[in-house]
Amino acid sequence: MTSCAFAKTLRKKLLGWYEDEKRPMPWRNNRNPYRILVAEFMLQQTQVKTVIPYFERWMKSFPTLQKLARARESTVLKHWEGLGYYSRARNLRKAAQKIRRDYAGKVPDSMNEILKLPGVGRYTAGAVLSIAFGKKVPVLDGNVKRVLSRIFLLKENGGTRKSENILWETMQRLLPATGAGNFNQACMELGATVCLSTNPLCPRCPVKRNCQAQKSGQQSFYPPRNRAVPVTKISVSAGVLFRRDKIYIQMRKTGGLMGGLWEFPGGKFESGESAEQCLRREIKEELGVTVRIDEKFMTVKHSYTRFRVTLHVFLCRVCAGKVSPTRCEKWNWVTAEELGRYPFPSANVKIIKRLMKNQESV
Ligand code: SF4
Repeated sequence: MTSCAFAKTLRKKLLGWYEDEKRPMPWRNNRNPYRILVAEFMLQQTQVKTVIPYFERWMKSFPTLQKLARARESTVLKHWEGLGYYSRARNLRKAAQKIRRDYAGKVPDSMNEILKLPGVGRYTAGAVLSIAFGKKVPVLDGNVKRVLSRIFLLKENGGTRKSENILWETMQRLLPATGAGNFNQACMELGATVCLSTNPLCPRCPVKRNCQAQKSGQQSFYPPRNRAVPVTKISVSAGVLFRRDKIYIQMRKTGGLMGGLWEFPGGKFESGESAEQCLRREIKEELGVTVRIDEKFMTVKHSYTRFRVTLHVFLCRVCAGKVSPTRCEKWNWVTAEELGRYPFPSANVKIIKRLMKNQESV
């Protein structure tokens, strides 16, 4: 499928195009393996434009691997707040600690060793090894899969282990002997900026004369789509629970979903419940107290990969009982200003912003 001459032509065109067209990104300024590792963790599941400000802040706070390895988990999570998929942040910190302990502080440069780091899979390993160390190792993300599928009219979309392996092998065969890092980045960049999922910009594409999908007008059929995963709608109540000027917050159990992040108490509606009934029941179950609801504060809508959450937020106070939480890692009473020091999930951050705004206007 990939004759030597064809692969050579693709490499030349893609590398030349990448040299001229690559977007500036802070992690492209130098090939420091730690910087590349951080960027690749952040780029898993997240777009470049979202990652850039997080990366810049991160490098100010954790300029070296040693600094990250020594940081507290809550500090690291605070820097990740809003990026989602928080296990990436925990794994990145653990990876830094392992590198410091087992590899004398140097990011390992072999596939065997780098795959032993927490949170490092084949994609991240390929990106770090090829970009930071110049190793001839491929990467395969959603953008690369789309580019390969269209150039070669491959039916594989990476939805099964077998089809994923075919794509990895195709990419491996295309890699140049030197400059694999740039070639990998060129393929990712082409998918992100030209070979778009819908309406690819074929007239601007450096490999348009070599692309079978373009030649046959089948771009929109490649890669073949998986059946859409159904999205579940969830309704949740949360309480901003006051005791004088302090607000109750609790840390989610570590090890669970969004573990280590802080939140306002509350939970999912049960069948037939109103938002207020749900909140009273959840707080009674979680904290052992009865609350008086003062007012509806706001409604927050938030999307996760498989869920659409509607969060009904109320201002409330304890009217009977003593707060004794049972289902969280830690808990605390803090002022509205202090909320900003704790890492919260994105939906809760919207509540905090509104609380801060109200505070300013008092
Ligand atoms: S010619 Fe079009 S479909 Fe083919 S790789 Fe380029 S942008 Fe993608």
